[in-house]
Amino acid sequence: MTRLVLKFGGTSVADTDCIERAAIKIAAEIARGHQIAVVVSAMAGMTNDLIEYCRQISPLHDAREYDAVVANGENITAGLMAMALQKRGIAARSWQGWQVPVLCTDRHGKALILDIEITEMEKRIGKGEVPVLAGFQGISSHRRVTTLGRGGSDTTAVALAAALGAERCDIYTDVDGVYTADPRIVPHARKLGKVSYEEMLEMASLGAKVLQTRSVEIAMKQNVPVQVLSSFKDRIGSDFPGTLVTREDDIVEQEIVNGIAYTKDEAKISLVGVHDLPGVAAGIFGSMIEAAINVDMIVQNISHDGTAVDITFTVARSDLPRALNALQKCKELDGTEIRSDEDIVKVSVIGIGMRSHAGVAQTMFKALAEKGINIQVISTSEIKISVLLAAEYAELAVRALHAAYGLESK
Ligand code: ADP
Ligand code: ASP
Ligand code: MG
Repeated sequence: MTRLVLKFGGTSVADTDCIERAAIKIAAEIARGHQIAVVVSAMAGMTNDLIEYCRQISPLHDAREYDAVVANGENITAGLMAMALQKRGIAARSWQGWQVPVLCTDRHGKALILDIEITEMEKRIGKGEVPVLAGFQGISSHRRVTTLGRGGSDTTAVALAAALGAERCDIYTDVDGVYTADPRIVPHARKLGKVSYEEMLEMASLGAKVLQTRSVEIAMKQNVPVQVLSSFKDRIGSDFPGTLVTREDDIVEQEIVNGIAYTKDEAKISLVGVHDLPGVAAGIFGSMIEAAINVDMIVQNISHDGTAVDITFTVARSDLPRALNALQKCKELDGTEIRSDEDIVKVSVIGIGMRSHAGVAQTMFKALAEKGINIQVISTSEIKISVLLAAEYAELAVRALHAAYGLESK
């Protein structure tokens, strides 16, 4: 008997009609003889509303109470979905994270799943019951509710699929697969039939929010095939109409570039006139580590006279105030001018074929130059090239690169 985990995102459970439509898909998979576990997100917009309530009470609210509030959207959907299944004669039961339990770290607001204790759920699945698990949430060792960061229901679903030894995890959303670029920005973007874990990991972490990055990490580590598909089409996942995220060696034809992603979630910090001495960079970036701030792209210019250099790097936009605060206290930066810029976008091209092909970067630089777009910072890895640009060029750059690499529907 094939075991599947089906996850329905916010727009797929936006109202009771959507929940009923999702229940019909679940029923159809059960009718095929499959064993099903379900993971649900909050109804579209609800998590945003809950976050806004927290902000209204206090912008500097306690992270534990933030989690106690924002986890609730998923609880409502889980109960409603269980009812919708019961109405169709399917034995179903809702589960909140603490009831399973989904054990998490206590990094509130960005917790990691450590383990899912599936014994009871497994027993009930064996008796024909369909569990409906509230995504995005868990419980810490201190018995506090935790949440997994925005988009975290994907991670709940993949982690549950791994724990239950499911054959596949189907992620139902508002697009019918993973595209060469966000189809909202590039109308001619092409749907990918298959994409490797490595590429999907880069695409997700570089801004393609169709899957939460952590969910792809777990899928890759635990070898869980993940399918992204639309909940607004009639077909079900077992007819394979979506994009399969899978192992590289399961993909026969490798493209050089498979996707373009962009993110406006970063901010740029420039340190002008930093003393050019050993240990200075260690001091600066040490202060970022102490403040628990991740630094992404880093460039340092050459010192002409051996006395001072400029250092530029990026941090998550939400971390900018804390980063600036930590830098102002950094003794290595005495007399250094600290500048910041939030009007930036990071645009990336991703493709496993880059490993064995030259000239990918040149195509990128040429395409941007032809549009008169200035590159501020560049960073590369084996399968991606990222550039930092002024935010106003985000859409133009993504479309220009999509065309330059010939990614349109073929
Ligand atoms: P859900 O609520 O179902 O979790 P999300 O809004 O988190 O859905 O993710 C789906 C969205 O991801 C799509 O509506 C699309 O705009 C966006 N997206 C960004 N990049 C891509 C991409 N490369 N392929 C498909 N969708 C993408
Ligand atoms: N409801 C949460 C969010 O909006 C989690 C999810 O939808 O994946 O971020
Ligand atoms: Mg999502």
